[in-house]
Amino acid sequence: MTNGCSNGKVASPAVPEIKFTKLFINGEFVDAVSGKTFETRDPRTGDVLAHVAEGDKTDVDLAVKAARDAFEHGKWPRMSGYERSRIMNKFADLVEQHTEELAALDGADAGKLLLLGKIIDIPSAVQMLRYYAGAADKIHGEVLRVSGKYQGYTLKEPMGVVGVIIPWNFPTMMFFLKVSPALAAGCTVVVKPAEQTPLSALYYAHLAKQAGIPDGVINVVPGFGERAGAAISSHMDVDSVAFTGSTEIGRVIMEAAARSNLKTVSLELGGKSPMIIFDDADVDMAINLSRLAIFFNKGEICVAGSRVYVQEGIYDEFVKKAVEAAQNWKVGDPFDVSSNMGPQVDQVQFERVLKYIEHGKSEGATLLTGGKPASDKGYYIEPTIFTDVKEDMKIAQDEIFGPVMCLMKFKTVEEAIEKANCTRYGLAAGIVTKSLDVGNKVSRSVRAGTVWVNCYFAFDPDAPFGGYKMSGFGRDQGMAAMDKYLQVKSVITALPDSPW
Ligand code: NAD
Repeated sequence: MTNGCSNGKVASPAVPEIKFTKLFINGEFVDAVSGKTFETRDPRTGDVLAHVAEGDKTDVDLAVKAARDAFEHGKWPRMSGYERSRIMNKFADLVEQHTEELAALDGADAGKLLLLGKIIDIPSAVQMLRYYAGAADKIHGEVLRVSGKYQGYTLKEPMGVVGVIIPWNFPTMMFFLKVSPALAAGCTVVVKPAEQTPLSALYYAHLAKQAGIPDGVINVVPGFGERAGAAISSHMDVDSVAFTGSTEIGRVIMEAAARSNLKTVSLELGGKSPMIIFDDADVDMAINLSRLAIFFNKGEICVAGSRVYVQEGIYDEFVKKAVEAAQNWKVGDPFDVSSNMGPQVDQVQFERVLKYIEHGKSEGATLLTGGKPASDKGYYIEPTIFTDVKEDMKIAQDEIFGPVMCLMKFKTVEEAIEKANCTRYGLAAGIVTKSLDVGNKVSRSVRAGTVWVNCYFAFDPDAPFGGYKMSGFGRDQGMAAMDKYLQVKSVITALPDSPW
């Protein structure tokens, strides 16, 4: 590879032991009723990693029934918040104890860097679980100011059976972003992990059982979107769907919810986030942030800073340094600690990114660096930078979900705001400036759910995360996420003898 695996070859990569490959329904690992399995592949080589039971509508029906029984008759929604919290903390401890193994599973299944799995993905998931364990005994209603001789208050009650449908780019984080607040609220869940990365979710089901989470509370049904996923989103006995994935499928989920039982839906969808760099920025810091913003997790991140707007005064210096930075971003086996970026998750994604690169060239953008596969084996792509990109080009509008930076120039603050908002998405934005006034003005003018000023990817369980526009609605993280998993009930009681 140009900046990667030595000799352009991937040496036999380490493969972790795979212990769980069956569906997890009502506290047991079971085969799919059809007996079918599907392959999950190692993106470092394209080789089959495991055969996993393939759930479809019949299995989803069984999982929903288990979740319904656990919700209607089981202990979980009825136990005290404190008790749920205690069990969730035990679950978090077990996840933490298995950090090494879980990071390796996501590394081999999704091509994610092992090191980052150990220091970011798994610890963040543990933190998320503990954050919501802390919320489980703090679910309050309100006292209402009702008129007349009544007293009123609200109760927050668990939503019920929640369907969780998640993508492959952060298999662990996605699982815990949804499952943790749902558990804290007292809900029961049926999780459908992405077909590309089903392995860690099954491991989490096993750890949840060990922690004491009752049978039926967490069910995991790996399978394909159009069968297992669709069976969840159109199910008459699922109360809510928490979805993260593409805008295209988000629309399908919403339609299915509308056509079935009008279940509530929350959608965390795609993005095309702008990174805006002003003349007063420290250029080296801006380069580091922009490189991270697009090449971290090989660009397979919904908040990737894929459109980089640089003010004209530093544009030429920025372009030169950005190319050097991309060429120094080492592509290689994600289990090698010196690698900065592993392979795209699968052949489909690999070909999709390369096709976008061809589009960019044919649309007239200038390819400054990268643009090719980085190895003769596996799904590795070179860190790629285009310049001379125009707002109406496909590469500036579509979510590529790969390591492709589009560089553009601007003159004024107003122009930067206008260009940043020139997208159907609104997930995140980055701003690099030393000016407080510019930072404040731009962060309030960009229509995005998260704005990072002089930083990027600064996630925290307490910071609500979600989209504007076609990046979806509803929030993960923070106490705001609890709303997705709770119903609000008003209780009004007559007070015939009240003095007021
Ligand atoms: P995807 O939409 O293709 O799939 C997401 C999930 O939906 C998978 O589990 C898939 O099996 C399932 N699915 C597919 N078709 C379905 C159907 N008809 N009915 C029900 N479920 C169905 O997305 P992906 O390719 O797995 O992930 C990449 C996308 O996810 C990108 O667009 C990315 O931006 C987005 N994403 C968003 C966030 C966020 O928080 N906003 C985070 C990560 C990824």
